[in-house]
Amino acid sequence: MTARVLSGKEAAAAVEAEVAERVAALAARGKTVGLATILVGEDPASQVYVRGKHRAATRTGMRSFDHVLAAETPPAEVARLIDELNADPAVDAVLLQIPLPGGIDPLPFVERLDPGKDADGLHPVNLGRLLLGRPGLRPATPSGVLRLLDHYAVDTRGAFVVVVGRSFLVGRPLAVLLGLKGRDATVAVAHTATANLARLTRQADILVVAAGRQGLIGPEHVRPGAVVIDVGINRTPEGLAGDVDFAAVAEVAGAITPVPGGVGPMTIAGLLENTVAAAEAHAGR
Ligand code: NAD
Repeated sequence: MTARVLSGKEAAAAVEAEVAERVAALAARGKTVGLATILVGEDPASQVYVRGKHRAATRTGMRSFDHVLAAETPPAEVARLIDELNADPAVDAVLLQIPLPGGIDPLPFVERLDPGKDADGLHPVNLGRLLLGRPGLRPATPSGVLRLLDHYAVDTRGAFVVVVGRSFLVGRPLAVLLGLKGRDATVAVAHTATANLARLTRQADILVVAAGRQGLIGPEHVRPGAVVIDVGINRTPEGLAGDVDFAAVAEVAGAITPVPGGVGPMTIAGLLENTVAAAEAHAGR
């Protein structure tokens, strides 16, 4: 293997240490940072993610509030819980675990969140601020990807970045963030209708893959020396796998993230940063 492995665990630990300092500074002013999570249904993967988020919040000194609702909970009840948490001064940020069961559209619930408590940074107000280049709570996975690049001193300025995937959760906001002043990347977004994916991705200095298709990206998709960030999480009989054929691509790439242990921990880091930022704003009021 020739590629450098970019460990999200290591980078996330650095972010956590920063967040813990900010949490302690708030505690010294009498403010306890609170993160509430809402998990609807019993999807085992979502249960694992939410548990990981609670553990990380606790490690940084936050208080966490765990709300678990049955899969068949009426939408009005989920909405009522969101209203309660919006009004609760002990709660600085609220995370609604996506996807919701039964293919329920999460957007009406995301829109119901107080934008100032939007742990995942997905409320239209925050996405609007992102598009405007104004400060706001940023989508957790995209901002986690940027923190990972920062941690390993991967410079995005002037780089050609290809993002595979255009979801509102990952691909689209990440493309916007990368193109903002200061990040200064030139970005192309690929999706299911992209013709000749390999021709495009082979031009990338930095290739970010968030498609949810195991093995989508092989060595033929990667320019020698490129940085490859694998956001994908796919469940296989052998465990978790990304969208990138790690072993083969690591022979070509200059740097690559593993799955697990790559972007996953950085998503949690992004969530913690949003939560402490929300609490700082609340304490400053
Ligand atoms: P999504 O299904 O909403 O979006 C997938 C995107 O990939 C779509 O825009 C689609 O056009 C594109 N795509 C799919 N197949 C493609 C193909 N063959 N060629 C080109 N483009 C293709 O998924 P999402 O919510 O954005 O998540 C993407 C992946 O990232 C999933 O595996 C998800 O589990 C994972 N994820 C990981 C984290 C993390 O913390 N590591 C966080 C969020 C999502």
